[in-house]
Parts: sequence; C-alpha cells; structure tokens
Amino acid sequence: MRAVDIIIKKRDGEELSREELEFFVNGFTRGDIPDYQVSAWAMAVLLRGMTERETTDLTMAMANSGDTLDLQQIAPNTVDKHSTGGVGDKTSITVLPLVASCGLKVSKMSGRGLGFTGGTLDKLESIPGYRVNLTKQEFLDQLASFGLVLSGQSADLAPADGKLYSLRDVTGTVQSLPLIASSVMSKKLAAGASAFVLDVKTGVGAFMQSLDEARKLSHLMVKIGELCGKRVVCLLTDMNQPLGSAVGNALELREAVETLQGKGPADYSEHCLTVGSYMLVLGSQAKDLQEARAKLEEAIRNGKAFAKFRDLVKIQQGDIRYVDNLDLLPKAKFIEIVPVPKDGYIHSINAKEVGETSVDLGAGRAKKGDPVDHAVGIMILHKVGDKVEKGEPLFTLHANDMVRLEQAKQRLLQVHVIKDVPCKPLTHQYGVIQ
Ligand code: URA
Repeated sequence: MRAVDIIIKKRDGEELSREELEFFVNGFTRGDIPDYQVSAWAMAVLLRGMTERETTDLTMAMANSGDTLDLQQIAPNTVDKHSTGGVGDKTSITVLPLVASCGLKVSKMSGRGLGFTGGTLDKLESIPGYRVNLTKQEFLDQLASFGLVLSGQSADLAPADGKLYSLRDVTGTVQSLPLIASSVMSKKLAAGASAFVLDVKTGVGAFMQSLDEARKLSHLMVKIGELCGKRVVCLLTDMNQPLGSAVGNALELREAVETLQGKGPADYSEHCLTVGSYMLVLGSQAKDLQEARAKLEEAIRNGKAFAKFRDLVKIQQGDIRYVDNLDLLPKAKFIEIVPVPKDGYIHSINAKEVGETSVDLGAGRAKKGDPVDHAVGIMILHKVGDKVEKGEPLFTLHANDMVRLEQAKQRLLQVHVIKDVPCKPLTHQYGVIQ
C-alpha cells in the first residue's frame, strides 16, 4: 500500500477501506508518512467527506494509535465530557468537581487553547504548581482513590489525534465533520469512560457555525459511540456570544470557582447544571434530570462542590492559597472599565471576535508552544437582549500593555452591536441528540 494512492482515492471521492485507513493512521503516527502527505489527505477528506463507516474506522484507528485506558476495574460507570470548543468555555473546571462531589467518578484529559478558543489546562495553570502532566499510573491511582482527575492528555493516548490536529490547525482543515468527529471520539474512547456528554457548540464562535452542521456532527458521534458500545449524549449549545462573563485564563478560573460557590453568572451556571445533570443520569447517580439538578444545586449550596475542587488542587499540587483567596491569582497591570457608548439594546457580541481579542491581549498563542499570559483577558458584562444605558460598564479589559489595551477596546466596542430596538435573548440550548 502507498500513502499517495490513498490520497488520490480520497481526492477522487472514493470510499477508503478499513485497511487503508489503518495503514494511513499508523503510518503517520510512526512518522513514516510525512506531514505534507497527511495535510493533502486531510484536505481531500475536508472536500470529499467520508461515509459513516469510514469515519468510524478512522476513529477506531486513531483511538488505537497509542495507549488506551481501561477504567472498568476502577469504576464501572465513569462518564467523561468534552466540548467542541468555544469562547469563555470553562465548563470542565466547574462541572467535574461538581459531579464528583455528588458521587460520580470522573477523569478528564483536557487540552490547551486552540486558535480563538481557550483551553482548560492554560486556565488551571493560573494556579501555581497545579500539575497537568500526570503519568498514566498517577491518573488511574487518583481516579481510584479520590474519584476526580483533571489533567492534560498523555502523549501516549490517541497520539494520531494530537499529530493530525496540529496539522489541521495550520492547513485550513479543522472544519471537517468526519475529522472533528474522529478527533473528539478517538480521544474519548482511548480515555476509557463508559459514557460521554458532548457539548457541541454552534454559532459564530464555534467550529460548527450552523445548527445543521452541529446536528450532523452530533448524529455522527452518537453513532460512533453506539458502534463502540458507549452511550453518548450530545447537547447542542449556543456559541454566538461568549459563555459567562470571563474570557482569559485566570479570569475564567476565578469565574469557574465562583460558580462552584454559587456566585457564577446566570447563563454559565445554568450551562454547568445542564451538563452536570446529564452526566449524573448517565453515570446512574440520579434517576432523572430533575433529581440530578437538585443534587447539583445542593452540592453548590452546602459547599461540597467547592470543597471537592479545593481538594483536587491540593492533590494535583497546586498552591491552595490561590483558591482560598482568588485575589492572589495573576493580575494584569492595567484594568479598564469601558462604558456603554449609547442607550439601546445589545443585538450581538460576536464570540469569535471576543476570543481573538483575548488572544491578542496575550491570553492565547500565536503559534504552538508559545507561553500564555494568565492575567490578561476580558469581562463581558452584558448578554444579547440586555437593555443598556449610556455610561454604565459594558466590558472590562485586563491588559499588560497599553497599546494592546487600546486596540482591544476599539475592537470590542465594534463587536458590541447596540441598536434602538429591543432584541430577544439568544437561545442557550438548541436540542439534545442521544
Ligand atoms: N475538538 C476536538 O477535540 N477536535 C476537533 O477536531 C475539534 C474540536
């Protein structure tokens, strides 16, 4: 078999066999197939698509490209979650301790920021010392003894996804349904949980801009799960405006922790309760969504959810003083509150532009491996549909550089579209596919 023949076959719109997909995935994981051939193949997949059978075979080849975890011995009914990526999406940091405090064993391997979307690991590293690089054994031991792990993806787990993702990021091939489905599902399958709640974002600040695409992706991932004997629930959620208020690493960490303490923004708190409820039901910790929600609300009220997060930070060697006193978290040199320029109603706050502005302030990376500035970011103080008055705070900028602060201010003033006529709030959730 030759890589070039597989590329040509897909370029010409033909269906690849399981053997061809395994040959290709194993070849590029080992480094035998060079990046330029993988990039050409990814572009052919993006343009020609894949059948459900091909996407499933690709997913399985990627999931088996490295180590796989078997969590059955530790906990027979673990539930994992994954978001397809958004702006202000700090959900894992709130939801994992929240559901763990209700008795569900959860372990998650998270990622770093990508493009205009933030990453859980960068946010967690706002706490000095927090270890995100647990070994496979440490990961399994902590899940067994503490019931909660939140760390980085081991290099040995679905390495094909790691390689392919970084190539897609720079070759314009991220937005392909079979490539996204196989990327998400291969890492979830390799990480060994029995069921998954997948938060499929749709809107201008998501990889799936249209609801139709988000639905197709969800059906595909549910189907792959089914074929592998896993239960999958996809929540279709809005990403036209940022989730919650905070965008930027330490700011988001703070908001995630405050939400565990019952002091989070309404939309973000609601989102966490929704994701958490599905996780508890899938993990048999609640008989239905109502009971699950009541348990989660009680864990926030009685302090158990926050206590679980605090213990998690201690176990993963983060400096607990930063959790007990959130004011110690990295702070930017310049903090400016920008006022509403005119009376009216907010019609849109383009999430992608907000994410890009945050990256330009230094919260994300221009290229792979760059350091991030944990202190900088944005607090978006209103939601689409809000009535606003001239002079009240519109957003707050946290910057370490006056030039960047000024550029961010101008851009975000444009991004907030304010009109005289009222406007409906955005729908938070567009449906559930399971
Ligand atoms: N999230 C992933 O893990 N993979 C993708 O391809 C897109 C979003």
